[in-house]
Amino acid sequence: MQIYNTFSKTKEEFIPINPPTVNFYVCGPTVYDYFHIGNARSFIMADIVRRYLEYKGYVVKFVMNITDIDDKIINKSKEYKKPTDEIAKFFTNAFYEDISKLKIKPANVYPRATDSIEDIIEMIKTLVKKGYAYEIDGNVYYDISKFENYGKLSGKNLEELEAGARIEINDAKKNPLDFVLWKKAKEGEPSWDSPWGKGRPGWHIECSTMSCKHLGLSIDIHAGGNDLIFPHHENEIAQSEAANEKKFVKYWMHFGFLNIQNEKMSKSLGNIITARELLSKYSAEAIRLFFSQTHYRGPLNFSEELLTAAEKGVEKIKNLADKIESELKKGSNEGVMPEFDFSFYYKEFEKVMDDDINTPQAVAVIFEFVKSINKIISEHEKINTDFYRRVKKFLQDTAEAVLGIIHFDSLLNGIKEESIEDKLIELLINVRLLLKKEKNYALSDLIRDELNKLGIILQDSKEGTTYKRKKI
Ligand code: AMP
Ligand code: ZN
Repeated sequence: MQIYNTFSKTKEEFIPINPPTVNFYVCGPTVYDYFHIGNARSFIMADIVRRYLEYKGYVVKFVMNITDIDDKIINKSKEYKKPTDEIAKFFTNAFYEDISKLKIKPANVYPRATDSIEDIIEMIKTLVKKGYAYEIDGNVYYDISKFENYGKLSGKNLEELEAGARIEINDAKKNPLDFVLWKKAKEGEPSWDSPWGKGRPGWHIECSTMSCKHLGLSIDIHAGGNDLIFPHHENEIAQSEAANEKKFVKYWMHFGFLNIQNEKMSKSLGNIITARELLSKYSAEAIRLFFSQTHYRGPLNFSEELLTAAEKGVEKIKNLADKIESELKKGSNEGVMPEFDFSFYYKEFEKVMDDDINTPQAVAVIFEFVKSINKIISEHEKINTDFYRRVKKFLQDTAEAVLGIIHFDSLLNGIKEESIEDKLIELLINVRLLLKKEKNYALSDLIRDELNKLGIILQDSKEGTTYKRKKI
C-alpha cells in the first residue's frame, strides 16, 4: 500500500512501525462552535483512511484531540457570558452528535487539552531544561533557532519566513517565529498553576503531548487539513523531536480544502455551512459519497448539484441493497448461480485504495459492480440466494465498511415495515416486463403511470428496471 507522505513529498510504501498495530493521530476540533463541512471533509477522509487500514487487517489505534481551551473559546465565553468549560462542553457534545450522524467511527480516545495540563507542563519543562524553550515574564516560547530541522515538513525557507513575520510591538520573543508553549493568564481568563505562574497551554504543545501520551513517542500516521502543515505540524515536530529525541511521525497525511466559490471554507471568512445544516438536507451517505468522489489531497468545491447527484448515486446502491434484502428474506435456494468474478472487483477496489487511498476510483469500482449485478439480475428469472449473499458481502466490505456510503442495518428497519409493499412493486415490475415482451405497451405504461401517482418511480435502463420513492 502506498501513502503520500507530506514530509518526503512522495508516495511511500506503507510499513507501520509495529504491525499489525497502526497508531493514528488526527488533529480534532476546537470546540467553540458547530463544526463546518470543511472540517467534516477532513474528519470523513481520516475516517475512510482508518476504515481502509482496518479492512486490510491492521489494528488501528485512532486518537483525535479536542481543543477545549483556546482564544476562540475565551472570546465566545465573553460573548455569551458563560464559563469557558460550559461553552466547550456544549460544543464537544454537538461535535460527538454530528460525527455520529455523519457515520464517522468513534476514535479510541478523544483526549481533551484541559485533562492533559500536567503532562503538557512536564513536556514544556523538558523543553526548557534541554534549552529549546525560554521564559519571558510568565510566557514560555519555543526557540526555533535551536531546532535544526525546522521548516522541513512545510518546505519553508526560514529567512523568508522571518522577513515576512509580523513583529508585534512589545514582542519579547527572541525571534518573531518563536511560538508560545505556555501563555500567561490575563485578568479573568481560565488558568492553571505552573512553574512559570498561572497560565494555559499553547495550541501546538497540546497535540505533541496528547499524541505522545496516548500513542507513544513515535507514531505511524498524523493527519489534518492542509492548513495545519504550517505552523501547527511544523511546530509539533520541533517540540516532540526535541523533547523525546525520536522521530515523531512516520507518515504525514494532509487533506485538501473544501472550498466554496474557490475560497477556503472557514469561520473567519464567514462562508461556512455547518455539518448539521447540510445533514438536514442530505443523507450522511450522500455527503460521504460527495467527499469520496474527489481524491483526499485535492481541493474540492462545494456544490449542491454534486450533492444532489451523490444522493442519486446512493439511491442506486440502495435500490440494489433493497433488492438483495428482499431476496434474502425469501430465502429460496432455487434458481441459477450466475457466473460472476467477485474477486476481480475486490482486487480492483484494493488496487485503487492501495494507491494512496484513491476513493474516486474506488467509487467507480463500486458503481461498475452495481451495474454488472443489476444486469445479471435483469437477465435471470430466478437467482440462487447464495449469489445475493455474496453481492451483499461485497457491498458490506467496501461501500459500507470502508466508504460508509450505504448502511444495511438502516435498510433492514425500513424493509421490515415495507416488505409486502416492496414485494407488490416487484410483482408489478415483473408483470410490466411480460406485457412489454408481448408489446402490450398500453398496459405496461398504465402500470408505470399508476405507480408514479402513488409516488413510486420506475427507472428503465439496459440493466433492467429499478424503482425509487418520490421524496415528500
Ligand atoms: P479547526 O477546528 O479549525 O482546528 O479544524 C479542525 C480540522 O478541520 C483540522 O484538521 C483542519 O485542518 C480542518 N479544516 C478546517 N477548514 C477546512 C476546510 N475548509 N477544508 C478541509 N479541512 C478543513
Ligand atoms: Zn494538532
